[in-house]
Amino acid sequence: MAVYFLSDTHLSAQSPTVYEKFIRYLDSIRRDADELYILGDLFDYWIGDDGIETLRHQPALDALSKLASSGTRISLMHGNRDFLIGTRFADEIGATLITDPTVIQLAARPTLLTHGDSLCTDDIEHQRYREIVLSPKWQAAILELPVSERCARALEMRAMSEKNKKDKSLEIMDVNEDTVIETMREFAVQVMIHGHTHRPAIHDMTIEGKAARRYVLGDWGRGNDAVIRVGSNGEIDFHEARVH
Ligand code: MN
Repeated sequence: MAVYFLSDTHLSAQSPTVYEKFIRYLDSIRRDADELYILGDLFDYWIGDDGIETLRHQPALDALSKLASSGTRISLMHGNRDFLIGTRFADEIGATLITDPTVIQLAARPTLLTHGDSLCTDDIEHQRYREIVLSPKWQAAILELPVSERCARALEMRAMSEKNKKDKSLEIMDVNEDTVIETMREFAVQVMIHGHTHRPAIHDMTIEGKAARRYVLGDWGRGNDAVIRVGSNGEIDFHEARVH
């Protein structure tokens, strides 16, 4: 029995290969997974829980529901693309929405879970964007719009973010090390798991004389589908998502 972590699958009907892989992956962990944590950007974009048909996300809903009803507890965190996922969708798939950040006990150690974009403090523009899109007032106003209008806006925002990314250096878009250490200190953790940066890796550091470790999950769309499995022995296994 095990706990799994993944993020950044960026599901989109336009990328059927990743979509199918994700569905087969959920099926492959069904018997083993007590818990699954999805740490943001499950979807490439989300226009509200009433947009499932428009965005053709019924297959994801079905696969996640199937996993939940076979006994896996699913926890879902928003990313910077799918922050409009609401309780209706979470209820439909039998998942719990968790806030960013969340601290859990993992193998008896407090572990900080976050999508990761809040750690990218060198990217001032993204932090401004984040502040806007996470404001309840802005979200409520967007959700008032008709589905077609929301769809058009989401695509616009996505195109803009892709364009902006091209103008920014990789360093700016990565986490800021000081912010990482500050955050881990603030939450008194020695382990952190996040996604977002699309640079799967394990980073070791020392915080106040103690060994600390930061795991960065992979981005499925770019073939870096690193996930984590923590077995009952407490060992953290960081590996590529294997699908048979
Ligand atoms: Mn992200």
